[in-house]
Parts: sequence; C-alpha cells; structure tokens
Amino acid sequence: MSDFFYYAAILLFPVLSFLILEPVGARWGAQHKSFYPPPDIKARSERNGRYVWIIKYVTLSFLVIWLAMHFSLISQTFGPHSNEVLLSVTWGILGGMFLFLFRAGYRIAIPRMRSIEYQEPFLKGPTAFWLILYFLGGFSEELWRGFCIAATRETQRDITHAIIWISISFAAAHLGGIPGRIHGEVPDAAFEAITGVFLGCLFIFSGSVISTFVASVFYYTGLFYYLRRLAALSPQQTPNPSPATQTPLGSRHSEPSMRIQPAAGPRSPKCPDCGSGLSDSQIDIVNPFECPACRNQLFVSPEYNKRIRRACIVLSFALGIIFAFVRNNIILFLWGPVIGFFLVPIAPIFCKRFFPPKVEDYASHATRARYLEL
Ligand SMILES: [Zn+2]
Repeated sequence: MSDFFYYAAILLFPVLSFLILEPVGARWGAQHKSFYPPPDIKARSERNGRYVWIIKYVTLSFLVIWLAMHFSLISQTFGPHSNEVLLSVTWGILGGMFLFLFRAGYRIAIPRMRSIEYQEPFLKGPTAFWLILYFLGGFSEELWRGFCIAATRETQRDITHAIIWISISFAAAHLGGIPGRIHGEVPDAAFEAITGVFLGCLFIFSGSVISTFVASVFYYTGLFYYLRRLAALSPQQTPNPSPATQTPLGSRHSEPSMRIQPAAGPRSPKCPDCGSGLSDSQIDIVNPFECPACRNQLFVSPEYNKRIRRACIVLSFALGIIFAFVRNNIILFLWGPVIGFFLVPIAPIFCKRFFPPKVEDYASHATRARYLEL
C-alpha cells in the first residue's frame, strides 16, 4: 500500500464530510458568495443537511469496503476477534458506558461544555432519524477506523501516532456539513477527538469492529437521550426560549419548540390531569416531576423503577455467567457486578422508551396515602 492510499484512507472521512454538500444551502452560497444564508434558507438547509449525513455514511461504507477488498485487508478491518460476537458486544457495551461516564466527568471539569451542549445539532429533528444515523454512522465510521488501523499495521507505521491522526481526522469529519454531527466549539471538538482515541484503542484491545460499533451506538444514543431530556427539563437555559408550552395542539410549529418539547408519540404516557402526551425525556421515573402542559406534579410508581433495577441485576449476572462459560474462565463471572454497576443507572433511559410507565398524579396519591394511614 502506497503512502498516497494510506493518507487518502485517513483523510477519506473528513473529505467526504466536507465535500458532500447540501444542495439548497450550497446553491444559495454559490450565488451570493456567502456562508451566512438568511434564516429561511438556513432552516431548510439544516433540515436537508441532516439527511445528507446518510449519503455521507453510505458513501464512506462503500469506499472503505472497496479499499479493504482492493488491498485484501477485509479480515483485518473487521478485526481478528470479530467472530467472537458475544465478547465483542460486551466490550462494546462496557466501552460505550465508559465513554458516557467519561463525558459526564468532562462536563464537570469543563463547565463551558454545558452551554455548548444546549446547542448540539441532535437536539433538533426527529428522534427516529438520529437513532438510524447513530446506527449507520457507527457502522461506517468504525469500519473506516478499522481499515485505517489495519493499513497502519500493514505498512508497519507507528500505531500511537496513527491513532492520534485518525482521531483528529474523525473529529474534523464530525465538524463538516450543516448541521455537523457536533456543535463544533473547541472543547466539543476536543472531546470528539478523545472519543476517537478511545474507540481506536478499543479496536486494538478487543480486536473487533463489533466492539467499537456497539460502543459508538451506545455512547451517542445515550448522550442523545440524556441531552434531549436535559433540554426538555430546563427550557430557560435554551438560547431562544419560545412559548412552546402555550402553543395550541395541532399547530404545525417546527424546530424551536421541538427542542424544548420533544414530540410525544402515540404510545407515550398521558398526563392523568390534562391528558396531554408526555415524551420520554419529560418523565422522571425517580422523582416527582411537573407536567409541561398543566404544571401539576406527577410521578411514576416506585414499583416501575424497582422492576427495572431487578431486571438489570438478573441480566448482568446472567451475562457474567455466560462469559465464564464461553471463555471457560470462572474469573470472568466477576464482570457481572461490573456490568450491573453501569447498567442500573443507564437502563431507565432506554426502558422508558420501550416500556412506557404509568404516570400518576402526585397530589392525589399523597392524599390517598394519608387516608390509608388513617
Ligand atoms: Zn398535565
């Protein structure tokens, strides 16, 4: 493999990310020789721009697979241990949880991250779109990373340097397009590069692209739900608060209000007092919370939370036992409690979506409880 192809492979992702343009914004920019379109063009361009990411990822996947076949690096791209699916998935889940918690630490260390996070591109647009994008993005990005690392080994270059360059390339690619994958201020982009380094190390350690794929999907999906929920809970912190809570039902009001009040699906729980739908991010299953429409205090029965915790503990011990069996090493059983430790705080975010809890009125429950006591 020549130097040219090696560098081309590392630069492939950012080049695609910056070169595949969104047509509406690009046409306006070319006509007016400007990067700053008026708000209506900008809104349309952003809405289309999200979907352009799908084109970028599909193109990236095809090009990486073609390159890997051309240089016969397919098996190294997938990693030598990619046939150990169960173990790869586990390393992926642990890796994703680690990244998520590391991000929480980073947010504490660099307080400016909080205000940046309220402007992340994924706070706008349909949830389903972003979930599909995380899946597709995880697949093509990690395939690309796997190929770059395989090419580094093939050409006997220094792997540490390579991981750093691949990660810078990865962070740069996430800045491309309108909207980018990230908002794009310095601390934000720096964390994306750290994510890249971590995923690169995970690929080398686990020897499987499945691990990095699972870690990427897990981390970005977790961050998505976490930040959407945070944005929904504190509308006063968003840069342009809109009277979203007062908009009558049925008015097709688009983006700014979606940031504050993510759409509640047909299956989502309803407020027992006013009947308005509650989205996952508005429901707090541990503490009483306020209905965004009628401002009454609501809560989820503690039984729901308890059941999730029990399921997590059973699942993590089962996984520990499975590892011990699969790898024929009894020590691996100890992974059970470790997985449980991470799983218990994160599982409710996902459970809420798939098993909508029953929401009750807090005040009437409290009075009922008092009557029962008498
Ligand atoms: Zn209500």
